[in-house]
Amino acid sequence: MSAGEVRFSGDLEAICEGKRDMHELALTQGIVDLVTQVGRHEGLHRVTRVVVEVGVAAAVVPDALTFCFDIVAADTIASGAELAIETVELRAACRACGAEFEPASLVSACPDCGAYGPRLLSGRELRVKSLDGE
Ligand SMILES: [Zn+2]
Repeated sequence: MSAGEVRFSGDLEAICEGKRDMHELALTQGIVDLVTQVGRHEGLHRVTRVVVEVGVAAAVVPDALTFCFDIVAADTIASGAELAIETVELRAACRACGAEFEPASLVSACPDCGAYGPRLLSGRELRVKSLDGE
């Protein structure tokens, strides 16, 4: 962790959850907006690295995100920054018995009681985890 690293609470997740169905370009715009905003707030002259967490069920193509990031960030303090993407696996909690498990898909049954339609705990997020700068 460098001195320029910033950690986020759940706020961005809430913002991005609402944008789940939007194209990667719009998602990337949201990421860059937040990164430049936080970067300036932290007094950074440039952002060198951005780490984002992308859920496997977030309907986001990592390559597209990387591609868009370079374009969207071009005229900002995040220009040329490395975009590191960390994949977040599916995790769910059974609505019937409360068991937590890693479902193979969004419609998997609970391994303990067999109930369907678990509550998703993670796997759909798109979240800026941290950023580095100078
Ligand atoms: Zn269960």
